[in-house]
Amino acid sequence: MNRFDEIYLGTPPWEIGRAQETFVRLASEGTITGRVLDAGCGSGENALHIAERGYEVTGIDGAAAAIEKARSKARQRGLATRATFVHGDALELGALGQAFDTAIDCGLFHVFSDEERPRYARSLATALRPGGRLLLLCFSEAEPGDWGPRRVTRDEIRAAFGDRFRVEAIEPSRFIANIDSGFARAWLARLVCATATPGAAKP
Ligand code: SAH
Repeated sequence: MNRFDEIYLGTPPWEIGRAQETFVRLASEGTITGRVLDAGCGSGENALHIAERGYEVTGIDGAAAAIEKARSKARQRGLATRATFVHGDALELGALGQAFDTAIDCGLFHVFSDEERPRYARSLATALRPGGRLLLLCFSEAEPGDWGPRRVTRDEIRAAFGDRFRVEAIEPSRFIANIDSGFARAWLARLVCATATPGAAKP
């Protein structure tokens, strides 16, 4: 059982029982399209929202407990044909053997160590088709205190993804969370996968 499995025994602060408003907005604007990957999908609210809008979504998470919850919600909501949930490692996305048009990351990047960040960028570049878009929401350094995950700066996002992705925009956003203030300050990064990676799955 990993540390996230233990957290999923209770209600994690990020479990709000609905999709994050930022991804709801991106979906309604038409920014989340095609075949969609949700990296670190948790119990699946964002992926299921996207599936409800008619897209095929694959969610992957390292916590078996989260994947079980996500699959059960997909069945209950009649979305199991469009939303697939895989127990696996987001640092090894090539193992999925698929090419995605859009990847979303809602609170995964900020859990990775300095060493894991470039590995994650490589992994995503393998799973996205060239020109595919990554939409990433992470804690920002504007969030006060030291509660929760590590804070991330815009420069750190650029450093981690700059080799393989073109940065379209990194804009202030927020996470809705079960914490006193009700939300945490975040960056929303829009990144476009620039080049084909050797060994990448063909679309
Ligand atoms: N996106 C979800 C969960 C965010 S919490 C939401 O918005 O609710 C971060 C998630 O990343 C947890 O579910 C955790 O289990 C998962 N995670 C952490 N490291 C991972 C890894 N290497 N591969 C896949 N998932 C991972």
